[in-house]
Amino acid sequence: MTALLDIIRAEIAATGPMSTARYMELCLAHPKHGYYMTRDPLGAAGDFTTAPEVSQMFGEMLGIWVAEAWTALGAVPFRLIELGPGRGTLMADMVRVLTRMGADPDVWMVETSPTLRDAQATRVPGARWADRLEAVPQTPNLPEIIVANEFFDALPVVQHLRTPKGWCEHQVGAKDGRLVWGLGPPNPSRLTPGDWSETSPVANGVSSEIRRRIDQGGAALIIDYGYTASDRPSGLTLQAVRGHRRADPLDAPGEADLTWLVDFDHLACVLGPGAEIMPQGAFLAAKGIGQRAEALARAAPDRADEIAGQLDRLTATDQMGTVFKTLSRIVPGSV
Ligand code: SAH
Repeated sequence: MTALLDIIRAEIAATGPMSTARYMELCLAHPKHGYYMTRDPLGAAGDFTTAPEVSQMFGEMLGIWVAEAWTALGAVPFRLIELGPGRGTLMADMVRVLTRMGADPDVWMVETSPTLRDAQATRVPGARWADRLEAVPQTPNLPEIIVANEFFDALPVVQHLRTPKGWCEHQVGAKDGRLVWGLGPPNPSRLTPGDWSETSPVANGVSSEIRRRIDQGGAALIIDYGYTASDRPSGLTLQAVRGHRRADPLDAPGEADLTWLVDFDHLACVLGPGAEIMPQGAFLAAKGIGQRAEALARAAPDRADEIAGQLDRLTATDQMGTVFKTLSRIVPGSV
């Protein structure tokens, strides 16, 4: 039994079943027992592996995108902000590419986890940190380029299901000391077509803030596990992963990663006009990851198979190439 389970049961006993969003918030971000607060979950010894941890090629291709955005902004000094930078690997790989191209970004990280801030500090000297995007200062004549990989999927999500009685919230309750799923009372509003819905007020807040910051000149690139209208899943998407395996989200709260699949059509609407959605595989191919893999393999022939495997993992349709998507918006500004 975890300490967090006691806290969650006590809250349910006091105020009734809680929303999935509250449950996620406690599991992932409780200051003392939250999943991200207590550990570095990334990599082979952890619970899951993200694209930047698969290969340096991922961060290098994102660095090329940032360089293109920077060129569109007039190659002026700029601030590079990453949301939820994990171990700092992506930022280190992007900055290496940017430095080679003559760009020298002012780097900020938005990170709540002290453990991961420490990891980021070792990889990205000179970076500065904030707990939330709103707390990163805005500076006149310093346009911002904002990047987030696997950040939105960890933000708290509110779930609803359509039942014969109407739309009901999907909630976490307790029965005989165990956590169980349940449904709240019918809610008269018509939420969406289909029979399920997931919305994240926190994610909406972050994406609106990104839009506000880049609307007059700037750029953003969001990459995540998610869907559009053409591959919308058939039901609620919250999932738990522990030790590189699917787990029950209600089992061992605070000990597993919890994520949902991001609705890219919705995110594109919030991010503003010109926001473009692409599958991750196609995006990386367009930035030249195939040529980069060849160059790396030529330079280290004994690693050629390993590099080919990494390329496949990042881009193949049956791997991360399709279910991961990119959303980008570049606003050249009015210089
Ligand atoms: N982008 C990294 C890590 C993804 S894991 C990678 O691709 O490897 C999610 C990251 O978001 C972690 O760094 C986690 O600590 C951070 N995070 C989660 N919720 C957050 C929040 N509400 N505010 C700031 N950072 C958050």
